[in-house]
Amino acid sequence: MLQQTRVAAVIEYYQRFLKKFPNVQKLAAAREASVLAAWSGLGYYRRARMLHAAAKQVVKEHNSQFPSTAEELCQLSGVGRYTSAAIASIAFNQPVAVVDGNVERVIQRLLGKNLADETIWREATNLLSTKRPGDFNQAMMELGATVCTPRQPLCLLCPVEQFCATRGEIKSDTSKVSQRKREAFYTLNRRHGNVLLTQRPRTASLMPGMWELPAVTNPNGAKVWLTLKHSITVTDYTVRVLENVALQNAEAKWISPSKLDRIPLTGLTRKILKAGRFLQ
Ligand code: SF4
Repeated sequence: MLQQTRVAAVIEYYQRFLKKFPNVQKLAAAREASVLAAWSGLGYYRRARMLHAAAKQVVKEHNSQFPSTAEELCQLSGVGRYTSAAIASIAFNQPVAVVDGNVERVIQRLLGKNLADETIWREATNLLSTKRPGDFNQAMMELGATVCTPRQPLCLLCPVEQFCATRGEIKSDTSKVSQRKREAFYTLNRRHGNVLLTQRPRTASLMPGMWELPAVTNPNGAKVWLTLKHSITVTDYTVRVLENVALQNAEAKWISPSKLDRIPLTGLTRKILKAGRFLQ
């Protein structure tokens, strides 16, 4: 949940998720739609699907016992090099280094040069405390997040300043990816307290199977009820929500407010329905 998302935004979801799926067996046995519904609003839904698939693997292939080595963890769905190293070192005290964006920056500054990915992993492994690998990895990530920040690092407060070859920002070869700007239109159609929603195709590359308000391709000067900003990866959307636009879409369904919590909604739809007081 915390990948690409702030702690403050996650806490509420995390608690609700654990209440609904208190152990790996419950998560493995759940329907995908109810996992996605509990995740709804966090974005990056592929992570929820992967988590669900990983829970099934843990139950089936590991007798419901979480594997403890980075190699075994890496075999689980959605668990890559970073996540497996973080779980193995923090939860099981295995001597494996973790490299995330923060650690990458700290190591490059400590050594005073831009390095290839594999070299950074190697240097992190050389530095690792084998006695307390979990604490070491968390300290490195925290150092990058709070002291050795991307802009204006706090070198005077830095606990490793005496070992640092840079003591400041290092020139980066990579230029920042600029956000694209797009406009999107949706319609909020209400009838007897219900709201009209459509389900994205199961084969869609983005948010497959999730429910959303019907998109409007030709707004034709219709009155805008709500305007809001929404970002998905590298695109910043200005979203305009119209009201009761007549639709040709036979696939759309009227959904009652009591059902809204049980179906997977896209984050944007959740925001709009909250503004319309369909959701708390
Ligand atoms: S001295 Fe400055 S640049 Fe070097 S690791 Fe510390 S905060 Fe980062």
